[in-house]
Amino acid sequence: MKGDKDWGISTKAVHAGEIRYNEYGSVTTPIVQTSTFIFKNIDEIKKLAVGAVERFEYGRYGHPTQIAAEHKLAFLEGAEDAVLFSSGMSAITTTLFGLLKSGDHIIITDDAYRRTLEFCKACLVKFDIECTVVKMCDYEAMEKAIKPNTRLFFSESPTNPYLNIMDLERLIGIFKDKGILVVSDSTFATPYNQKPLEYGVDIVIHSATKYLAGHNDLLSGVVLGSKKLVEPVREFLKITGGVIDPNSAYLLIRGLKTFGLRMERLNENGQIVAEGLERHPKISRVYYPGLPSHPHHDVAKAQMKGFGAVVTFEVEGDCEYVLNFLSRLKIINIGPSLGGVESLITHPATISYYDKTRKERLALGIKDGLIRLAVGVENAEDIIADIEQALA
Ligand SMILES: *Cc1c(COP(=O)(O)O)cnc(C)c1O
Repeated sequence: MKGDKDWGISTKAVHAGEIRYNEYGSVTTPIVQTSTFIFKNIDEIKKLAVGAVERFEYGRYGHPTQIAAEHKLAFLEGAEDAVLFSSGMSAITTTLFGLLKSGDHIIITDDAYRRTLEFCKACLVKFDIECTVVKMCDYEAMEKAIKPNTRLFFSESPTNPYLNIMDLERLIGIFKDKGILVVSDSTFATPYNQKPLEYGVDIVIHSATKYLAGHNDLLSGVVLGSKKLVEPVREFLKITGGVIDPNSAYLLIRGLKTFGLRMERLNENGQIVAEGLERHPKISRVYYPGLPSHPHHDVAKAQMKGFGAVVTFEVEGDCEYVLNFLSRLKIINIGPSLGGVESLITHPATISYYDKTRKERLALGIKDGLIRLAVGVENAEDIIADIEQALA
């Protein structure tokens, strides 16, 4: 297997994790499209049974394309181990189920990914795992929420849709010496912009569907950390079964090869578009950690290399006004998700929170005029021009 922890991020993205000379001599890692791996003879079965050989056995327990992608991701994050899943949610739910037990207590921040919050509040409680939701960036509330049975703290940074930034040094200061595991969903940051493990975070999770795969063409999730913590999650995946299929693992590897290039462009595009929108008279507010007007700009500058390509903004107007604006866009597509080459725009009030009343949405901080733009790798001036013509 190729790889060196001192390589630059683009060298890792292209080469790390793959076998230098595979048996076919193909420069790409093959898609091993099989559900099972057959035994040459009885001797091989016996050897596997006593752990005398390392080999693949059955697709749910791992396959070569998956392993290559996992190694590449581990190098990119600077993690000892990585395990891939069929989606980000599969990674999150399997990690929490795998590491927690009845009677445990967890703390999660209030602007975590909506489905993660739902899982913690509605699902884990069924197994007698208690969950306290604290306000994002309220460090005193986090400390106060700790109980004798607190086992894990779960958070994200940056968050959706306001791009709040967790001060990782402060966070670790609160939880580390109490033996509480700190898990961070780093999807919005990517290993290009932020390395939570270097701050002492125990487990990093990504929805690899977003920036890592980068092409809006697959679903995947990854869990990264020490072998000691990742191994039980990998074992639990063998039971829960949310394994990534060989084709998606290949597409993820393919997408990752341009990870460095894409992130360079996406960081640049995010900043240019955020600055452009902040100057627009019809836009009342822009949320982007790279702008001095963002409440967590200083923390972001200190702990991140770039600020990504999600830009959230507010226009004055009701839901109908926003939907009319969206329908006039010519380049940007309307849809959820982020981190891909195509720019996508979403109106949280109608697209993500359609099942809530206006009052419930406002209580969650989701205003009618709030819009989330995931900038792609197009030319930034075309994206700004598209928004300008749609607002005109
Ligand atoms: C998309 C997303 C998830 C869920 O990932 P899927 O791949 O869609 O299952 C989790 N966390 C964050 C921050 C996300 O953006």
